[in-house]
Amino acid sequence: MKVEIREAKSIITKSNIPSIDYVINPYTGCQHGCIYCYAEFMIRFTGHKGEKWGQFLDIKDYDFRKIKPSIYDGKSILLSSVTDPYLPLEKKYQNTKKILENLVGTNANIQILTKSKLVTRDIDLFKKFKNLKVGISINTLDDEFARIIEPAASKPSERLQAIEQISKENIETFVFISPFFPEITDFKAIIEKAEKYTKNFSFENLNFRPHNVPRIYQIIKKHYPNLLSKYREIRQVHTYWDFTELEIKDFCERKKLNYKIEFHHGGFSKS
Ligand code: SF4
Repeated sequence: MKVEIREAKSIITKSNIPSIDYVINPYTGCQHGCIYCYAEFMIRFTGHKGEKWGQFLDIKDYDFRKIKPSIYDGKSILLSSVTDPYLPLEKKYQNTKKILENLVGTNANIQILTKSKLVTRDIDLFKKFKNLKVGISINTLDDEFARIIEPAASKPSERLQAIEQISKENIETFVFISPFFPEITDFKAIIEKAEKYTKNFSFENLNFRPHNVPRIYQIIKKHYPNLLSKYREIRQVHTYWDFTELEIKDFCERKKLNYKIEFHHGGFSKS
């Protein structure tokens, strides 16, 4: 992994994601290397043309004291959209921690979203915010399959432990079931494990993009060969998602959960 420290002109930027006003990406690139990642388009915009996503990481160099917490009062902020705020190198560089320390006092609605157990490090910091919630993204309970599709992220079991620990500290939590792998993601099993710690769930479908399709097909062919033709079909015909959406709605309503289905919008990290 090529790691560089690069000066950043800004650290909190306006967002195109529906219902999110600002995003914070403390790093450029992502160590987690998820095979389906939608953020790979960032290669073109960050001076990394010709490099591989998951093999570079820029540590944003910024004077975090310039952050003015009151500017964001009443706004929504997501941390992060095109990287993970708790990458393994966050332990060393602590950009996420420094950003949060400088945001203390804001009345913004902050959402932290991660696939890393390192998030529990900042529990004391989270408690200093009035409106902050912490979420994990997860799409399987199978640690082995997760290691294949999200090689450097924490195991799903560790992510669930993290959310348990955070909710026990009375910090609001949520679970983002994403991306939903057809016939593999057992959303009911995930909810049944996680509902002890949260009532908030959101869902995103697997988005097939030209850059990730070969990797997805290769992995499905190797680990779930009987699903390969179904995946090809789902890529072309989107009705699978309509039926899945109805099933999710029915299940969540019966359980009286707060839920949000973000299917068909083209990818959470797109913007
Ligand atoms: S954690 Fe998110 S940004 Fe990082 S590689 Fe995985 S999907 Fe992409």
